[in-house]
Amino acid sequence: MRIKAILIVALFLTSALFGSFFRPDVRPGYGVTDIGWLSDYFSPLRNTNMDTPVYFMDSGIEGPTFLLMGGTHAREISGTTAAIVFIENVTVTKGRVIVLPFSNISAASIADETGKAPHFIPIESRSGKRFLVYGDRRTDPLDQGIPDPEIFKHAQSDFTLDDGAESRNLNRQYPGVADGNPTQQLAYAIIQLVKTENVDFNLDMHESGTPDSYIDSKGNERSGSSLAYTLVCHPDALEIGAVAIMEIEAFYGVSMKLEESNKAFRGLSHLEIRDATGSLSFLSETPNPGQDSWRDKYDVINDPDYPLSHRAGLQLQIISSLFGAYEMMIGETIEVENLPSYEEVMQNGVFSYLN
Ligand SMILES: [Zn+2]
Repeated sequence: MRIKAILIVALFLTSALFGSFFRPDVRPGYGVTDIGWLSDYFSPLRNTNMDTPVYFMDSGIEGPTFLLMGGTHAREISGTTAAIVFIENVTVTKGRVIVLPFSNISAASIADETGKAPHFIPIESRSGKRFLVYGDRRTDPLDQGIPDPEIFKHAQSDFTLDDGAESRNLNRQYPGVADGNPTQQLAYAIIQLVKTENVDFNLDMHESGTPDSYIDSKGNERSGSSLAYTLVCHPDALEIGAVAIMEIEAFYGVSMKLEESNKAFRGLSHLEIRDATGSLSFLSETPNPGQDSWRDKYDVINDPDYPLSHRAGLQLQIISSLFGAYEMMIGETIEVENLPSYEEVMQNGVFSYLN
């Protein structure tokens, strides 16, 4: 036990000495008015690999505040990509948008644990070659600093999961624990941001497996992910979500499912952020072929059925449609310029919106 503790301290010192905190490539456009850190809201994160940049896009004109989260699960790259496109292109002309492109930056700092995807994917942006980060679903065990428990238990309830590694899954920890483990502290810090900045509504962007059915190892046909193309809404946000997905289906022909937070499944952003802060909460899921465990080979960028342009374009359209639906239901909203629609992203390719 003592040797383990010494090893953990040694690893921590090594990373502190060599400054190996992960810094993904984000190239802000004109709409970014300030950049801060999540540790500004909860100082224990400072100088750890859990601290992550916070991008402010403030119109200076009174209106609601919206929080956009990508990278809660760092392999779900339609969310990180959509968040980066937002930061690099959009100008907010009414209200304010706060963006966390890499909500769990520790998870982005390691490759996907399946070992089937490269950690850095080269792409051609407006200014030449750059890399997208394809990370893991959960916090790096080295950053967590303690072994995973046998089973995961949510701190504020009796809710448990058999897989103890879920203690490193950010989207099981809300509303977080101030003196808890690093992933619990990360969730706690995000809640502090939402409270301090009076965030009116928020979207946590995710990816699931694809809806494609497949043949399992015993020769049986199995159906694909039921989560794909879903907008999960806190019960208080359900009507806004319904209006948003109706617009997406009517104008862009992409059919999404509307789902209400399951109150028995604790720790998830769409349920707990609203309950802890009052901010209306949404979670989106686009289909990532890299998350189909049955595929031996996949292309997370150019898959013929689920290319990244389709998935990130859909995330960007969900943001835009949520703004419209929020206005319809609440009477005020965020106004923006240069937010590409789903159709535009499909036409031009998502990389033409990266600096
Ligand atoms: Zn996810």
